[in-house]
Amino acid sequence: MELKNLMISISGVRGIVGDGLTPEVAMHFAQAYGNEFGPGRIVVGRDSRTSGEMIKHAVWAGLTAVGCDVVDIGLAPTPTTAMATQRDENQGGIIITASHNPKEWNALKLLAADGLFLSPEQGERVLERVKRQDYRFASWAQIGKIVSYPAAIEDHINDTLKLELIDCEKIRKRKFKIVADPCNGAGGVILPQLFEKLGCEVIFLNLEPHGRFPRSPEPLPNNLVELCTEVKSHHADLGIAVDPDVDRLAVVSERGVPLGEEYTLALVTDFVLSHTKGDVVVNASTSRVIDDIASKYGVPVHRTKVGEIHVAMRAREIGAAIAGEGNGGIIYPALHLGRDAIVGIAMILQLLTERRLTLSQAFEMLPQYVMIKDKISLPFGIDAKQLVQQYADKRSNEVMDLTDGLKFVYERSWVQLRASNTEPIIRIMAEAPTEQEAMELAEKVKGDFVKILP
Ligand code: MG
Repeated sequence: MELKNLMISISGVRGIVGDGLTPEVAMHFAQAYGNEFGPGRIVVGRDSRTSGEMIKHAVWAGLTAVGCDVVDIGLAPTPTTAMATQRDENQGGIIITASHNPKEWNALKLLAADGLFLSPEQGERVLERVKRQDYRFASWAQIGKIVSYPAAIEDHINDTLKLELIDCEKIRKRKFKIVADPCNGAGGVILPQLFEKLGCEVIFLNLEPHGRFPRSPEPLPNNLVELCTEVKSHHADLGIAVDPDVDRLAVVSERGVPLGEEYTLALVTDFVLSHTKGDVVVNASTSRVIDDIASKYGVPVHRTKVGEIHVAMRAREIGAAIAGEGNGGIIYPALHLGRDAIVGIAMILQLLTERRLTLSQAFEMLPQYVMIKDKISLPFGIDAKQLVQQYADKRSNEVMDLTDGLKFVYERSWVQLRASNTEPIIRIMAEAPTEQEAMELAEKVKGDFVKILP
């Protein structure tokens, strides 16, 4: 088996279907994973990609061949699979999704028994086993079986709505009118049930989960033009967009204005801290609006490397009240330690209900910053981390934060360069009180950085 044209990391394997990501690759990873975490029950869920069924069967074959039972939850959001995995009887979970990547991609994301992504050490063990192609196969009598758990989605919704901070009846009385765009991803199998329980009137765009995404699936403002238009034309209270595996959430105000993913976590953080004072954990690229909100409630903010597992592990370690990533990834540790758009939606609706606000009003009450996200694409095979290090060396006489990549922090602004973990790109982010200032920061560092490219 060849491991080429793949993005391999401790959290799994990702590639373009038919050009790198083959059923053979998926099966090898499933076998290795099954040997490390099995025997026992392994939850398998997938998003709506057209390659999902094909990869699923390869994963099933790999797991059952090494003696694991597969708990099939079918088409499901990533947080649903994570919550199903952490149930006592299960040993682990595999999610078949390339998250926000374009439709031709797919990936395996590997979970430990606690429902968290693999720690670096756990991921390394699986990877080493794949590289050695060292598998212990089960005999005919020990081959795993496929069992189904069709209630996974319903259980996820019910556990969310049972949270102490959520008053389902109150939200129902507000009778929200919502336009929702799941981009033909896994949101299509959970959002209708969620909104029904919350008594919302919903207009869906791109609901059918067929995986042929009609637009770029990342819930960034530029990709939500149709949603913004429809919110206005339907006179809705808000618009909601989730990425194809429903772990990232973006909202649009009743005026048809996308608030930007950073403000998803800002709204939820403000809501949670107003009820529960506790520590906040976010990654090194998350907006400084979080620092302003936390200081209003007198609680500390902890920053980690970018990547859900880093945020989740720190949140568990310190017992955070709320955590997440600025890209619309809400982690509410009291429910589970994974990014979850469903809990994010419930909390934003609860906030608007409790405070009797429109989404624009809630947004305007938060400190305002503008973040610019740009990127530099690199060919496969170039060591992006090495390039960032080289650039850090070049500016080594300046003060910088090296929690992740390279970040220059100023009084009310910052700019950061970091190598992506999932794509061959370098991300540039800058944030300042105005767009102009943020643009200038980003352009200056980009112009300077490209000079060191080979
Ligand atoms: Mg995702």
